[in-house]
Amino acid sequence: MQPLDGNVLAGVLSDVFSFEPTTTPGRCETCSDVAPLGQALVYGHPMGFVARCRSCGSILAVVVDHGGRTSFAMRGLQWLRVGDDGGAATPAPDAGTHDGAGGAPALR
Ligand SMILES: [Zn+2]
Repeated sequence: MQPLDGNVLAGVLSDVFSFEPTTTPGRCETCSDVAPLGQALVYGHPMGFVARCRSCGSILAVVVDHGGRTSFAMRGLQWLRVGDDGGAATPAPDAGTHDGAGGAPALR
């Protein structure tokens, strides 16, 4: 199978990245706790914010302001369930395993 040009992701990713972050459930990569990001413990720093897991305290996400540009890393989230309004609209990518496969890619 030949790989496709990354531009093919434009449609699906524009849907993915138009979510409401505070109500979107995410799974902690460390302890597997599933909770909306609005329940994370957030610590403010002069350059941005660090969101930690409500259950184990691991870093879920980091938001850094670079003077008008913003970086958002989700290195501690195994996945975000976009499109889930609290019901069972979309199944999780890998419910049940904790092997790191199928999770959100780390931003570097
Ligand atoms: Zn955790």
